Amino acid sequence: MSIIVINAGSSSIKYTVYKAQSLEAIDHGLIEEVSDYHDAFLEMQGNLIRHNINLSEIEGFAHRVVHGGEKFHEPVIIDDEVIREINYLIPFAPLHNPANLEGIIAARNIAPNVPHIAIFDTSFHRSMPEYAYRYPLPHDLYEHYHIRKYGFHGTSHDYVSQKTSQWLGKPIDELNLITFHIGNGVSACAIAKGISIDTSMGMTPLEGLMMGTRSGSIDPSIIGYLMREKGLSIDEIDVLLNKQSGLKAIAGTNDLRSIINAKESGDLHAALAVEMFCFRLRKQLGEYMAILNGVDAVIFTGGIGEHSPLVRKEVCSNLSHLGIRIDETRNLSKTIEDTMPKARRLQTHR
Ligand code: ADP
Repeated sequence: MSIIVINAGSSSIKYTVYKAQSLEAIDHGLIEEVSDYHDAFLEMQGNLIRHNINLSEIEGFAHRVVHGGEKFHEPVIIDDEVIREINYLIPFAPLHNPANLEGIIAARNIAPNVPHIAIFDTSFHRSMPEYAYRYPLPHDLYEHYHIRKYGFHGTSHDYVSQKTSQWLGKPIDELNLITFHIGNGVSACAIAKGISIDTSMGMTPLEGLMMGTRSGSIDPSIIGYLMREKGLSIDEIDVLLNKQSGLKAIAGTNDLRSIINAKESGDLHAALAVEMFCFRLRKQLGEYMAILNGVDAVIFTGGIGEHSPLVRKEVCSNLSHLGIRIDETRNLSKTIEDTMPKARRLQTHR
């Protein structure tokens, strides 16, 4: 029997099928340009059948849900009440929760007799202390409008911190870590003794670091200024900050690989975009070094974190005064196996 993990986004559905016992990945796929989620799931079903996987062999579905608000602290079996709650949380993640929900509804339609589980990006950050998750705003806005930092990419920060604990051969509750998830969305997390004590994204995934098409944190007064001076509506501002900002605004594309190539060919906007992107990541590193009582490892994941030696170098170089040294040769390695000293590898594989 198998389980299937679904990440239903606004225009694509990613899925991976795992053997239920061993958790070995046996198939994965991507359906792009999704406009109707039911059709997309039928397409996925067709792909699976071509790979000799029948839906009747699937024991359960796991769905990524971006915003779980204050209610969901751990994975839950999806029922009508859970669906209502994810729907209620749409204003907190307007770009993500609607697509996650459509994916859940369509998947339940094609596989109604197996459990569907929701796994929330926000859950890992439930451990943040109140002084970290509260905004300096009137109490009423927290108590009645639930305005607070929730944080996202929790499954990623959680996963890479667990992996780091295995690699270092040290229990997670003895480790202080800084994790960077750097893909189209970008977030950092300060992890003390294995638990999240702060993260860069906020009430929505717009706060924090510079991203592919999202601005990250900017002076909030810019919004009122743009409304008054440029006559932008609040919906136009949402689009501007979520879809027309970040790397795309500065370099003309959100694809960092192309931006690095353009920079190397002398494109000044591309060079500025890389400088801004890395400057903000580096500042974030300093902030988290200051709030953690010693740091055992800095971890990079996501498309950029995993594949861009340039970004890792810009963030970590010349920090020996903070105890961080970057090994230029290992930074260029393609796999983590290549980066670990041989003795350590033997020890962790035991
Ligand atoms: P998403 O958040 O959409 O899942 P990914 O985690 O796949 O995105 O990250 C996509 C980003 O990773 C793109 O900006 C892409 O250019 C960048 N990327 C992938 N490989 C490399 C590479 N070798 N060097 C620099 N950037 C890379």
